[in-house]
Amino acid sequence: MWFIYIFFFILGTLVGSFLNVVVIRLKKNESILKTRSHCPYCKKKLKWFELIPIISFFIQKGRCRKCKKKISWQYPLVEFFTGLIFILSVFYYLNYFSLYNLINFFYLLVFSCFLLVIFVYDLKYSLVSDKVVYPAVIITILYDIYLAVATGRFSILTSSFAASLVLGGFFLFLVLISKEKWMGMGDVKIGFLLGLFFGPLQLFAAVFLAFLFGALISLVLIIFKKKTLKSEIPFGPFLTGASFIIIFWGSYLIDWYFNIFLHSL
Ligand SMILES: [Zn+2]
Repeated sequence: MWFIYIFFFILGTLVGSFLNVVVIRLKKNESILKTRSHCPYCKKKLKWFELIPIISFFIQKGRCRKCKKKISWQYPLVEFFTGLIFILSVFYYLNYFSLYNLINFFYLLVFSCFLLVIFVYDLKYSLVSDKVVYPAVIITILYDIYLAVATGRFSILTSSFAASLVLGGFFLFLVLISKEKWMGMGDVKIGFLLGLFFGPLQLFAAVFLAFLFGALISLVLIIFKKKTLKSEIPFGPFLTGASFIIIFWGSYLIDWYFNIFLHSL
């Protein structure tokens, strides 16, 4: 089994290196596939050995080989975390081989990539790109339809749409009453997306964790005077970060939470 994990880790780092390109080029409105990878400063075209995920960054000591400008830590970090997400997906979701299971697994990988791009993009630019959220919504609706047909449980569709409208609507309400101070329209779109993706219990847990992390990290930033109460911290990274935790450890966390809750009764 170990070679499957290594294979998926390497595949993940290669996909991660593509996701880095997606994040940078989306912002600059460049084509994602047409031009070769180049240094953002001196425009030097990168050779194959400068494009090895994680490794190239450390061999070049985090600098461009030509102009010696610093390369962002975003590159190796996203590559590493994509690799990690791929390993965790295999570990938790590829327990046995069946077509049904395999489709679920590939959908999860694709969805995770979208989630990771939303995370990095919002963290870097405090923006949620429609070019990422809308395709993610469309593939998730298609996946929900597939699930409903494959299992014969059409209630999946109605409950997904209901959850999506409830969470998106709730976030929209917060946007309107705070005049976009607490949240932005980007978060509303992420809310619609997560509603389509998670079951009700996982969705509640993900949103709960996102608010918890958001509050804790805002508090830490304010204490260390990195931010003031007025400065806006994007909420998207908390929503997507919490979603990853729930995707992989949600069932454990929910069980643990209910055990404590039941024992205290
Ligand atoms: Zn350069």
